[in-house]
Amino acid sequence: QPIQQPDDTRALLETIYQQARAIEGGEVASYIPALAEVAPEQCALTLATLDGQSVSVGDAAQRFSIQSISKIFGLMLAMERVGESLWERVQMEPSGQPFNSIVQLEWEKGIPRNPMINAGAILVADVLVSRYSASKNAVLSLVRQLCGADDVFADGRVHQSEMAHGHRNAALAHLMKSFGNIEADVDEVLDHYFWQCALTMSTQQLARSFAFLANRGVCPFSQKRIVARRDAQRINAILSTSGMYDQSGEFAFTVGVPAKSGVGGGIVAVVPDYGVIAAWSPKLNHYGNSQRGLYMIREVATRLGLSVY
Ligand code: GLU
Repeated sequence: QPIQQPDDTRALLETIYQQARAIEGGEVASYIPALAEVAPEQCALTLATLDGQSVSVGDAAQRFSIQSISKIFGLMLAMERVGESLWERVQMEPSGQPFNSIVQLEWEKGIPRNPMINAGAILVADVLVSRYSASKNAVLSLVRQLCGADDVFADGRVHQSEMAHGHRNAALAHLMKSFGNIEADVDEVLDHYFWQCALTMSTQQLARSFAFLANRGVCPFSQKRIVARRDAQRINAILSTSGMYDQSGEFAFTVGVPAKSGVGGGIVAVVPDYGVIAAWSPKLNHYGNSQRGLYMIREVATRLGLSVY
């Protein structure tokens, strides 16, 4: 069944956004104290299509902490830098465990289940810190190129807050180091990881940034190749199986597109050969996914018939 073309995309998004705003419940992430301070009722939705159109409703220009969505940027650079050997140090299997789980890492001898859980993203951060002379600059220039804005930054308060409270992430890094799967200094690796989680972007910027994943690795706006076609397929495959924490199965079942969420309340959903839906609202369900964000993405995908399956 072909994808539906709405007569009026803005009206459709506006309706979905208003419905989402009526959804109560959920909690703002509070285990990172600086994140708990965001205004909880904010809500945004952007749909960017490969023909260059971008339609937004709500607080779509407001920047927020992208948190785990940054795991995609890190992964792209690590895949490019070390190629196949990356997959000897991190697996590509869904974890079925919470994003910050430590037990599986012990069983599997310090080899994380996939690059979208914290252990896997910390491993990726180790690759970047070890293989780039300035790993943060490498991420920053990639992000700025993708979203077409020079003023993307990490939020220093969120970064420091996680440095001070990220004991579980530190435990994951040390456990991997004890198994010999972290090369660089653990503190440096954690500093990079927390810094990239603290990047702030809007739904408009996120939708634009990930359009290359919907377009087989080529940015549809600049026509520049961002990653190899095979890497775009691989990243989408990992997002499909592991991008929505341990709700990834249900998300595939009800929405059916590759997606990644973060505990700042953002979600990006990649619709191959069509475009990107980006949603944001800070209150999370118990899996760590934005309650309203999930609703908005599910509604857009269902009403337009976007599932890839
Ligand atoms: N910086 C967060 C953490 O490591 C990221 C979590 C997330 O967005 O899933 O706990």
